[in-house]
Amino acid sequence: MSLRAFIAGMPKAELHVHHVGSASPQVVAGLAARHEGRTSVPADPEALAKYFEFTDFAHFIEVYLSVVDLIRDAEDVRALTYGVAQDMARQNIRYAELTVTPYSSVKRGIPGEAFMEAIEDARVAAEKELGVTLRWCFDIPGEAGLESAEVTERLALDLRPDGLVSFGLGGPEIGVPRPQFQPFFDRARAAGLHSVPHAGESTGPETVWDALRFLGAERIGHGTQSVGDPALMDHLGEHRIPLEVCPTSNIATRVVTRMEEHPIRQMVDAGLVVTVNSDDPPMFGTDLNREYEVVADLLGLDEAGVAELARNAVRSSFMEDGGKTRLLAEIDAHLAGGLPEA
Ligand SMILES: [Zn+2]
Repeated sequence: MSLRAFIAGMPKAELHVHHVGSASPQVVAGLAARHEGRTSVPADPEALAKYFEFTDFAHFIEVYLSVVDLIRDAEDVRALTYGVAQDMARQNIRYAELTVTPYSSVKRGIPGEAFMEAIEDARVAAEKELGVTLRWCFDIPGEAGLESAEVTERLALDLRPDGLVSFGLGGPEIGVPRPQFQPFFDRARAAGLHSVPHAGESTGPETVWDALRFLGAERIGHGTQSVGDPALMDHLGEHRIPLEVCPTSNIATRVVTRMEEHPIRQMVDAGLVVTVNSDDPPMFGTDLNREYEVVADLLGLDEAGVAELARNAVRSSFMEDGGKTRLLAEIDAHLAGGLPEA
């Protein structure tokens, strides 16, 4: 079996992947068809594939926002969520913590209750019909400031959907200091949600320190720039704080210049817990299988090495223990070339 086929067939968990950012051309085509005549996004899959060919980062943002604009009612939210789960099922992703930004949808007029019902409806259907377990990370879009933090906290704690496991912080890091979000993370953590902010993606190691000190980060979204600070690397290793690494995203957003220069090698050599993730896969022209191929190539991994990375994601997830044991056994069985024992 080729390594590529091994990766494709491997049961996987994904920890860093965004809801709207996961909308594939097929999913977007479906949404565009629902709003035909009221959107500039083409509904024809071929035209749409062209539309998804980004010329530069500004174009990516433009396309991303036009997809955000297609999420207008609860049915759009349900269709998007279920469509994302279908794409995951095709890649043998069995479990995903999907980063959802409810603030954007609620701001656009979808009532919070209807939004929760839509994602939960899709989650239950995905588990039953596709064998994909979804959990939610509600994230604050940092660029929208403290108002968005308030709204996100209220939605998370007052309307808490069954699938919600964690609280996050995304958006640009430059000009958006992390410590200001501490009270929101304090309350979310007190309510039992895990803390998984983005940090050290477009700014330096000090942002990762802030995420650890002020936001109680249990995993770091990206953390790419951590390698610039040996004390931070020691801390991350000593406390076994996983990094959610998204290689192709880092190239697309130019926080890493060339894939050969990606710091994942230093992270692994330093003994950090590294997980492989896709971030906004169709928008970056990738998927989780492709990201495993990229990392296997960078680190020179064989099947056993790739399986170990997949185990890292399971162990670093907020899945209940029984689910972790089952998925780890499935990975072991895939590596052994057989089926897991009943
Ligand atoms: Zn992200």
